[in-house]
Amino acid sequence: MSNEKVNLLNLNREGLTQFFAEIGEKSFRATQVLKWIHQFGVDDFDEMTNLSKALRTKLKETAVVQGPDVVSEQISEDGTIKWALSLNGGQAIEAVFIPENSRGTLCISSQVGCALDCSFCSTAQQGFNRNLSVAEIIGQLWFAVKKLGNQQMTGERRVSNVVMMGMGEPLLNFDNVCNALDMMLDDCAYGLSKRRVTISTSGVVPALKRLSERLDVALALSLHAADDDLRDILVPINKKYPLDVLLPAVKDYLEHSNASSMVTIEYVMLKGVNDTPEHAFALAKLLKDIPSKVNLIPFNPFPDTQYETSTDKVIDEFTRILTNKGYIVITRRTRGDDIDAACGQLVGKVNDKTKRKERRTIPVQQITA
Ligand code: SAH
Repeated sequence: MSNEKVNLLNLNREGLTQFFAEIGEKSFRATQVLKWIHQFGVDDFDEMTNLSKALRTKLKETAVVQGPDVVSEQISEDGTIKWALSLNGGQAIEAVFIPENSRGTLCISSQVGCALDCSFCSTAQQGFNRNLSVAEIIGQLWFAVKKLGNQQMTGERRVSNVVMMGMGEPLLNFDNVCNALDMMLDDCAYGLSKRRVTISTSGVVPALKRLSERLDVALALSLHAADDDLRDILVPINKKYPLDVLLPAVKDYLEHSNASSMVTIEYVMLKGVNDTPEHAFALAKLLKDIPSKVNLIPFNPFPDTQYETSTDKVIDEFTRILTNKGYIVITRRTRGDDIDAACGQLVGKVNDKTKRKERRTIPVQQITA
């Protein structure tokens, strides 16, 4: 019977309010339950002590709070933690916690695999499998907060930032990602600042517009090349939404947003491919009218890749050129690479045997947002 029960982890405040209305309960129950689940990490209705006994019994009969199962935890020498979470059907996703001095960032997945086929990303090798449910997306944060100690218990917010930079393209799982983001921002759930919640996208233009109408979070753009010819190869969705369509859409997003006055431009450093001084000048020129800061990501290698990481010297020169042009440039320190937790190294390894042969990608023209 339990698979007929409603998983309350799938429901944001609006969904919970509707759920309680349907079972004849007042809307303030939604707030109470939201707090129990997300602030206190409670999944047992018996522990929700400000609900009447009768309501608890009713909830036990109709609902569950079910997060993804965590099948492994790896801790890097630098403190980064990677969790593999298994989903129904034997698939797996990964979430990564990156502790830093003044903040703790959780990197969350939005899909099992990815359809976009970026040539330098190991998740792409796996192909696209399916979208994650809301429970599976928010379940990554729910689990991490429980595991690291929630604020109610520790008095400290260990996860202060969330980046949708794990597996998948968040804007291609729009509704579920937005409903999960609602909970991240809701004061009765995680109450994260909208400036500290970032969606990273390869540039699904129509969804970017919908996003600005739906909610407000910080934006990162996986640019990786400053001209269409190269970007078509590195980030094939560029063939559908080329730079002259993408960049105005990003600018529009920023104009609507209070969370993001600048877009973070992600730029993977690939030796001899996109890392020369000419590329840096072209990038500076392209971004001239876009309020942006540049995040250089040294390429993280994975088995069978054709790419290599740019040398430190080349990255320094690239940085110098952009800095001289007035850009803020940060080189993303590679974190957790000893446990394959760095950008672009996430793959659902539990599913290793079927991973490669079931590779499924969608031709760019068929990708609809
Ligand atoms: N689909 C989203 C989230 C992807 S992962 C997006 O495209 O933005 C987050 C970042 O890691 C992206 O900028 C992605 O391009 C980058 N990345 C992917 N593979 C990488 C690799 N092997 N080395 C370094 N960065 C990589």
